Amino acid sequence: MEELDTATLRKYDSDYLWHPFTQMSEWEGADNLVITKGEGCYLVDSEGNRYLDGVAAIWTNVHGHCRAEINEAIKEQVDRLEHSTLLGLTNDRAAHLAKRLIDIAPPGLAKVFYSDNGSTAVEIGVKMAFQYQNQTGHPERTKFIAFDNAYHGDTVGAMSVGGIDIYHEVYSPLLFPTIKAPCPYCYRCQLTEDRNPERCGMLCLKDLERLMESHSHELAGLVIEPAVQGAGGMIVQPPGFLKAVRELCDRFDILMIADEVAVGFGRTGAMFACEKAGITPDIMALSKGISAGYLPLAATLTTRKVYDAFWGNYAELKTFFHGHTFTGNPIACAAALASLELFEKDRLLEALVPKIAYLGERLKDLLDLPHVGDVRQEGMIGGIELVQDKKDRTPYPWKERIGVRVCLEARKHGLFLRPLGNIIVVFPPLAISLEELKILMDGIEAAIRAITKDN
Ligand code: PMP
Repeated sequence: MEELDTATLRKYDSDYLWHPFTQMSEWEGADNLVITKGEGCYLVDSEGNRYLDGVAAIWTNVHGHCRAEINEAIKEQVDRLEHSTLLGLTNDRAAHLAKRLIDIAPPGLAKVFYSDNGSTAVEIGVKMAFQYQNQTGHPERTKFIAFDNAYHGDTVGAMSVGGIDIYHEVYSPLLFPTIKAPCPYCYRCQLTEDRNPERCGMLCLKDLERLMESHSHELAGLVIEPAVQGAGGMIVQPPGFLKAVRELCDRFDILMIADEVAVGFGRTGAMFACEKAGITPDIMALSKGISAGYLPLAATLTTRKVYDAFWGNYAELKTFFHGHTFTGNPIACAAALASLELFEKDRLLEALVPKIAYLGERLKDLLDLPHVGDVRQEGMIGGIELVQDKKDRTPYPWKERIGVRVCLEARKHGLFLRPLGNIIVVFPPLAISLEELKILMDGIEAAIRAITKDN
């Protein structure tokens, strides 16, 4: 393939590409990084500069970039079969991966429905729950309950259960109405001044209970990001929250849809956040880490109870009429199988224990900085909330773009980071070494100090 120089690549990018979640007036014509290589936990640009990947290729990368074993599995698969279909056929890799996923999933999940991105994995869960209710004698159960600050993706159904105004508000006339419950954003709790989940008894759960009670006759399901609401600002749920939500779903006979798109595959220190909380959802959406960040792949797992509601004679129209062209793509499934082998070979989850502890110490130390209002951690996820005034938690005004400025400053320290508003995200590949994690946290600390010193 022809190798183009950096100037030409930047020009082609500016002239022809439209980037996601990007104000293109700021992007076009700027000296944007052109990534051409990945090496372990580093991204390498067209000029040969290396950047430690602090956000794991947008929360997907597990074993580092270009890990030999996964590369080999993909190459082997390309030479055998690149794609067929799951319409009227199956393929060896899709079948094998389905079995492996059910082996490692929380007990009770029994079936795998593939798609190719996180939004569709959630959207499929929503459609499944809706149709399940319809086919089990509850056609009146058509609504969903979800959380403020939730993010489940950008397709119309996934946006409908989302709760981030800046992303979703403009589309509101297009979306189906969803009941929104307060999320446990303790640092900015609207329900109590105390802001301590142990003392307040999780008032947000009481609100959820009240909402579920008053809507129980019409609710099909609840959608939740277990453990951490990612794009909403790395909002970490207090211990016991998820289990209590599961109990409420049982009490009101509502299907629980767990969106593990960001937290699945080891991110919380356990394979799945639901497993860590000791619960099994009725439906679980997976993507991102499923293929270790290599290829677009997603899966929606469910129980036999849900699956059985779709069982019947073809003419009964109980079939789940949903599917995508690349459903069960064998190359993506081969990458996922190779990734699961590496989890075992590298004893990845065990290796995370000291790294999670170290990340926790470094995050806690950051609280001494005058503009770090809150730090949040769940496993190998960190969120650092920058505030203009720590005393009364005054946020930096949006237009100051403090998060973006800190992340650009961090580039001088050889890091690639991507913020969520005023929150600096720490989300490195799980394979990051302790030494690299130190480099990452040193760089983040230096960048925060530099950018916030005069503000
Ligand atoms: N759910 C969660 C929890 C996510 O974090 C994301 C992506 N950040 C999605 C769904 C959507 O996934 P995708 O971008 O692959 O559609």
